[in-house]
Amino acid sequence: MSADITLNKQQLPKEINTLLHELNTATDKKQAKGFSCKKSSFSIDGTDHSVDSWKFAEQDFKKRDLPTFARGLFTWRDKTSGNYRIAVRGYDKFFNINEVPRTKWDWIEQNTKAPYELTVKENGCIIFISGLPDGTLMVCSKHSIGSRSEEASHAVVGERWVDKQLAQIGRTRKDLALTLFNANATAVAELCDDSFEEHILEYEGDRAGLYLHGINLNLKDFATYSMEEVHKFADEWAFRKIDYLMKEKVADLRKFLEEAAETGSWDGKDVEGFVIRCKARNGPNDPDWHDWFFKFKFEEPYLLYRQWRECTKALIAGRQPKYRTHKGITEDYLKFAAGYFTQNKSASAAYQRNHGIIKLRNAFLEQRGLTGADIIKDAEAEAGSITKLILVPIATIGCGKTTVAHALTKLFNWGHQQNDNITTRGKKPLAFATACAMSLVNLPVVIADRNNHQKRERQQLFDDISVQDARFVALHYVHYDGIDDRALRNRIRQATRERVFARGDNHQTIQAASKGRAEIEGIMEGFMNRFQPVDVESRPDSLFDLVIDLDPIKDSRENLETVVRQLHQKYPQLVKEMPTAEAMDAAIKASFEEYKPAVKHEIKSSNNQPKKEQKKSEQSAKKIDIEYFSISAPRQIVIDAIDKALSAAPEEKRSFYYQLMNTKRVQPEFHITLFHRSAKPQYPQLWEKYEKLYSEKKAEDPMGKAKVVLQQLVWDGRVMAIVAKILSPEWECTNEVPHITIGTVDRNVKPKEANDMLTGKLKKEHENEQIAIPGGIEFVGTVKAVKHSRRP
Ligand code: GDP
Ligand code: MG
Repeated sequence: MSADITLNKQQLPKEINTLLHELNTATDKKQAKGFSCKKSSFSIDGTDHSVDSWKFAEQDFKKRDLPTFARGLFTWRDKTSGNYRIAVRGYDKFFNINEVPRTKWDWIEQNTKAPYELTVKENGCIIFISGLPDGTLMVCSKHSIGSRSEEASHAVVGERWVDKQLAQIGRTRKDLALTLFNANATAVAELCDDSFEEHILEYEGDRAGLYLHGINLNLKDFATYSMEEVHKFADEWAFRKIDYLMKEKVADLRKFLEEAAETGSWDGKDVEGFVIRCKARNGPNDPDWHDWFFKFKFEEPYLLYRQWRECTKALIAGRQPKYRTHKGITEDYLKFAAGYFTQNKSASAAYQRNHGIIKLRNAFLEQRGLTGADIIKDAEAEAGSITKLILVPIATIGCGKTTVAHALTKLFNWGHQQNDNITTRGKKPLAFATACAMSLVNLPVVIADRNNHQKRERQQLFDDISVQDARFVALHYVHYDGIDDRALRNRIRQATRERVFARGDNHQTIQAASKGRAEIEGIMEGFMNRFQPVDVESRPDSLFDLVIDLDPIKDSRENLETVVRQLHQKYPQLVKEMPTAEAMDAAIKASFEEYKPAVKHEIKSSNNQPKKEQKKSEQSAKKIDIEYFSISAPRQIVIDAIDKALSAAPEEKRSFYYQLMNTKRVQPEFHITLFHRSAKPQYPQLWEKYEKLYSEKKAEDPMGKAKVVLQQLVWDGRVMAIVAKILSPEWECTNEVPHITIGTVDRNVKPKEANDMLTGKLKKEHENEQIAIPGGIEFVGTVKAVKHSRRP
């Protein structure tokens, strides 16, 4: 271990006990303040140790008020002292350049210091290794340990590599465990092993293994070894090392990164980007420097490779590959891939298991004589030739969306669709998307003026606006600053409220002068609470071609200029030159003066769910479009029931559920379908009875309560469901086996397949897997009607 004694800082029981208290509180939705976290408990094979893993919601890392920023954290309780201890500590979550205020170059220049250590962003999956005092070695992935899940099987492969290394140097697991325990440290490595799972970049044959890239102290606040010490440790324990280089000046660092990005490669190899390690402070007045990372991801050719991989999988599955960029070359690639799979019959099955991705890609590139640098040039040329854009504000009420949109139409004569002007009953989202698409028939740019504050709204636009060669640009009104988010939200609240109350009745749905102040504030607050910031690392937001960050507090004039400037830079064909300051002043002024809404309608606020409420207020449409009647099941109860069933079951039974979780395929809400309208012909009287019950109630009220017991978890590799028994006889269910669908493997498998699985109507190779829910879990759910217009 490192000779540097100063690094050998031990855990303070009081600090860790307090941390655990805060984490535990945050697992309880009702008590959680501003963030929540998920706890999973694991027992370590062959010992009587049990450890807890703590997982924060990804978006919460952008907040400043988390008790720790560790991404990957396991704790245990020392039975002798009763104190909690950190067993494994990952890096503090770090962000990409420009992703958050702290990763803008301005901030980096002022608040970080050398040495800047750069490592290539490795491209496998992260593995943590640490030890317990009795010499038990822990090898785990970000949030799990053992052999009980898809993700955890990474841990198992990681463990095999560790054993191989130990055999090489003739040392034992216990040696490594105690070394790490005594140093109060976690070793962090990247598992790169294409024979197990292939990622985008290549690690075959003797390049495979565990690449040690960090050693963290097991402390609440992030503290990590220098790369030099990491290398020393790697040598001592036979890990693979990762290359690093050092920069002493921020200017050199930036120059290096931007030059490397031009080719997407370094040292002759394609790389995904770099991680930069340095010291940072919280601001010019902060005397303390702490360890701090950020990353600099290259955009191309990596993004294209990822697109190819996704398209290839679609091709194999017989789906229509979807892609927005590099059209020409992607089409050619897919033709090549189709031919390749015809010739290599076994290759497609292997590809689905993530084998041969790189081989296929290289074969194509070679045949075409293309390099990564050529692809980057292609991307730039393509951006220059874009002719259609959809501007998507991501905002809350009163940020100035409409003001900016209106000014843009003044300046450029672009299209502007306001959700608030759409009066269609039902299918409103589709009507809105269609209106946007229609605008693009004759105009180059349209603004999809709606709050789009939730990812599902963004997803819906991506799904429903299909215009050839159109790109999406986010106008992201940023609602966090990573420093003191609560204070920032207060300032946003104040600014937007002031504007909205000054706006008076000049709005379609938020008629501030005639509605009570509290009611309007309630509606606005609902949007603030549900706001999901842009996360370009995953879908749907990864589909944006450009994200323009705006400040909700700043004047719309300033935001307008930011939008125009960035569009001009990225799409010079569309915004050929910057308008003059006078022209922008005039456009904003016109926007203030001229704009009066053409329609007015109501949003009710009682539960801060404007959409739902709005639908319910459409009394006249009430009977007609009911899709199904259901008993809703509280999410936490269902999740607990699954956890309870799985924790009592053998390990191999858990992987399907983990797979659903890891791929975000667990449904966001759970219900038992009582009666789907497709069964109406068989039970017309029952439908009538339910419909009558529904129409007799006030729209907001549930139809009644139903007692339910959850009995059994069942899955078949495509779908997972819980068999439920309805204990209240007045609620008759038309399904042979009443159940809650938990999730399906992918979007091609419809939730209703659960029904076929449970009734044994599917012809299958395998039997269903099933586990009883110990003791059965009872709850009382509300019965309600779900409308046809509702989108998932
Ligand atoms: P939206 O809800 O995001 O569409 O916000 P609007 O564009 O409708 O703006 C809300 C209110 O604030 C309107 O009355 C605007 O005229 C006003 N507003 C927008 N931008 C500014 C600004 O920069 N300064 C001031 N004082 N008011 C603004
Ligand atoms: Mg508006």
